[in-house]
Amino acid sequence: MPGEDVGSALDAAGSFASVGLGSVVTALGERVSTREEAEAVCAHYSEVLDAIRARGLPTHVSVKLTHLGLDVDRALCTKSVLALAAHAATTGTMLWIDIEESHYVDATLAVYGQVRAVHPRVGVCLQAYLRRTPADLESVLGMGGSVRLVKGAYREPPEVAFPKKSETDAAYFTLAQRMLDAATPDRLQVFGTHDLALVERVKAYATSKRLPNKSWEVHMLYGIRSAEQRALAANGVGVRVLISYGTHWFPWYVRRLAERPANVWFVVKSLVS
Ligand SMILES: Cc1cc2nc3c(=O)[nH]c(=O)nc-3n(C[C@H](O)[C@H](O)[C@H](O)COP(=O)(O)OP(=O)(O)OC[C@H]3O[C@@H](n4cnc5c(N)ncnc54)[C@H](O)[C@@H]3O)c2cc1C
Repeated sequence: MPGEDVGSALDAAGSFASVGLGSVVTALGERVSTREEAEAVCAHYSEVLDAIRARGLPTHVSVKLTHLGLDVDRALCTKSVLALAAHAATTGTMLWIDIEESHYVDATLAVYGQVRAVHPRVGVCLQAYLRRTPADLESVLGMGGSVRLVKGAYREPPEVAFPKKSETDAAYFTLAQRMLDAATPDRLQVFGTHDLALVERVKAYATSKRLPNKSWEVHMLYGIRSAEQRALAANGVGVRVLISYGTHWFPWYVRRLAERPANVWFVVKSLVS
């Protein structure tokens, strides 16, 4: 994270823009439990969209539905996402919806469907580790939607998600091919991964289909594989860096540790030294 406040995130977005990298910003937080909190999050993102326009940044925004009150009142959450999508359209940017634990997937896709029916520049994340995702991908593509495909960051039971990483990796590439078959410059498809071998396979498949570069992108997290992000962009691949900010960083931090056991040792060593 470049900092806890949105200003630091947008400063970082500006630095990335100067070297040809796009960005996506997201405020850390999830599972709010009151309407007031949910409304404050929506108001905050609205200000962020204005700030992106004021600074002229090539920056998208990504939101979590439980941060916008999905557990409190689904209608309120949908209203907020509709308002943010309309605002994003007027500021010339794109709104992304993160995907959370598997029990939120049905509700997330239902909200996405309602918003996508009105606003084309809204995308949703799908997780390759979920057994249900091939069917969900067909449903989102059927709506003319944009997908950000990730491997999946939550602990899920084996009947819901593949227990083996190799199964998730294989599923990811199959889903990626299907997304590229549907990709067009107006219907951006995104691969959110730091797995460079996978990115190379995706790139080779896109090249074999002679897809225009603007129809697909790679998104990576701030601070991970930074040199490779720049190298990919220099080779003509659209790359965006997902920049998180905020004070509610603990669940996010634990997920980042779980993604790579070496990170846990890195933290332990820095605590004892
Ligand atoms: C842009 C973006 C958006 C995302 N949005 C969501 C979402 O909405 N919902 C969701 O469930 N998940 C989301 N994720 C997280 C995702 O599900 C994975 O948990 C995460 O990306 C790690 O998987 P990987 O694809 O990078 O592949 P892996 O095979 O796990 O990693 C490949 C290599 O990347 C490096 N790497 C990966 N993660 C880390 C890390 N934390 N620290 C240091 N090095 C690392 C390592 O060198 C590793 O060997 C998102 C990820 C990205 C990049």
